[in-house]
Amino acid sequence: MPSAVFEGIAGHGEVIHRLLSMMEGERLPHALLFHGPPGIGKNTTAIALIQTLFCLQTIKGSGQGCGVCVGCRKVVSGNHPDLLRVEMGEDKTRILVEQIRELSRFFNLTPLEGNWKICLLDDAGQMNDAAANALLKTLEEPPGKSLLILITSRLDSLLPTIRSRCQSLRFSPLSDEVLVALAQSKANLNGEAARDLAPLAEGSVARLLQLANSEFASLRQDFLQTMDKLPSGDLSQLVQAAAQWADKERYATTTTLLRGWFRQKIHVTMGVEGDSGYKKELLALATQVHALLQRGHVFNLNKQLILEAIFIRHYRLHRHLSGGPSQR
Ligand SMILES: [Zn+2]
Repeated sequence: MPSAVFEGIAGHGEVIHRLLSMMEGERLPHALLFHGPPGIGKNTTAIALIQTLFCLQTIKGSGQGCGVCVGCRKVVSGNHPDLLRVEMGEDKTRILVEQIRELSRFFNLTPLEGNWKICLLDDAGQMNDAAANALLKTLEEPPGKSLLILITSRLDSLLPTIRSRCQSLRFSPLSDEVLVALAQSKANLNGEAARDLAPLAEGSVARLLQLANSEFASLRQDFLQTMDKLPSGDLSQLVQAAAQWADKERYATTTTLLRGWFRQKIHVTMGVEGDSGYKKELLALATQVHALLQRGHVFNLNKQLILEAIFIRHYRLHRHLSGGPSQR
């Protein structure tokens, strides 16, 4: 028995409900804009929508794509002649005007197999100015039975004129509850490990699956030890630790671990009676850490220097409060 394509998607019930009712009432707009943080299911939802529109045997009752017919399979394999996927080129930084011109040419062709011409434009926030202006022209005069789905995690980098011509659907980060279930079903973790890991994924299923590999567990162990030891060490150890965790292969994991460490620390500290001055300083530090990581990401700052700055603040706060290494 084939199962309806949207049923395999975790979370996003409200968005899916809206999409289904648009399709049911034949009120799909010419352009949809899916936005929200990366790795939470925007692309998966877009694929399910396209499958539903190209499905040759939609599921009775729900009206959703079946996921197994030739139409549905061609959507996934990228072989459907009425679907064009546009994403960043080889250099992985920009979507170029030539790609958008190809999109316009594609929309003007007659559908070959389905009733629709559909274009999935991923990383839409990465269009350069020329590409964005070319897209605007297409959006101003959309050909009949065409659907453009724009996906972005950076809504503010899209021209307001583009945004206003699309029907926007916001995707929210997945709840920890949904992530726990996914960690169990997709990554085969037991309940305890799943509950441990889910908050670190920060609402993203992609991040969750990345974190669920075994290497992460040992990295996490190392990181916890680093954070514990830092206040009792000296500054040269601190610089060394920053260099080690700033390594570009593992930096994304480092930032996840750092955020998780502070969240956990705050959770534990706030749950018990204790020095209110410390609680206040810890909260302030966590806010600073968050801002530093954010700024580092946006401006592509030197990763080691960011970690040094964070480790020094952690060192000062915890060394001072523990009364120095001799009293630990
Ligand atoms: Zn199908």
